Amino acid sequence: MFPLVDVGELATGGSFLIVAPHPIDELLGCGGLIAEATQRGLPVHIVMLTGGAGVLRALRDMPLRDIRRVDVLRRAETLTAIARLGGGAAMVSFLDLPEGALAADGFAFGIAVDVVAAMLRQRSAGILLAPSDADPHPDHGAAAHIARAAARAVASPPRRLAYAVSGSPGHAGHAPPRAGIAVNVGVHAARRHWALEAYRNVSGTMEEQGHAVSHPAQLRRIVARPIECFFTPED
Ligand SMILES: [Zn+2]
Repeated sequence: MFPLVDVGELATGGSFLIVAPHPIDELLGCGGLIAEATQRGLPVHIVMLTGGAGVLRALRDMPLRDIRRVDVLRRAETLTAIARLGGGAAMVSFLDLPEGALAADGFAFGIAVDVVAAMLRQRSAGILLAPSDADPHPDHGAAAHIARAAARAVASPPRRLAYAVSGSPGHAGHAPPRAGIAVNVGVHAARRHWALEAYRNVSGTMEEQGHAVSHPAQLRRIVARPIECFFTPED
């Protein structure tokens, strides 16, 4: 178990910037932290790397009009979820980069690094949160590399922390994280559950996106955790 840290103490270095590969990852990985920081009036911003229906298009051969509808729906779900955590629409930037291709698409990767670095400078972010680079989902691993590259590109690098989208710290084939912190978020369980309900259509799309955890019962268990853990990246 990592040491329990007060969110207010964490924030002494500046604001929080969260890199989320897909809608719902921010809730599963750091929904409690978002709720706690927002309740205390601490600045939090989320960079949603992808948000569209790229994978759905490939899988279902969707016409453009339907893809746009899925884009709009998923964006609305994210904004509703953030509102239910106590935040506002201005807290999220949607980059609409191609889903499933963050690691392979050098152009998209470069844009994401530039945007995250610009936000780190603009917001004097002290804490940068992203998934772990051991996360087997290629978009999640890419998000970890994007966070690392962006942190290296700024004059005052933030403290980097990794969050677990699956709710569990370790990933198959990787050593468990050695260092990290824990945040007590039990008081926000109801808010997180309410936020999860905003993602009405998510279990199907999560499976299609290649998320290891997608069953509604698993998702409910993740948002019910009394403690959220954040790990110190090894690099
Ligand atoms: Zn994801």
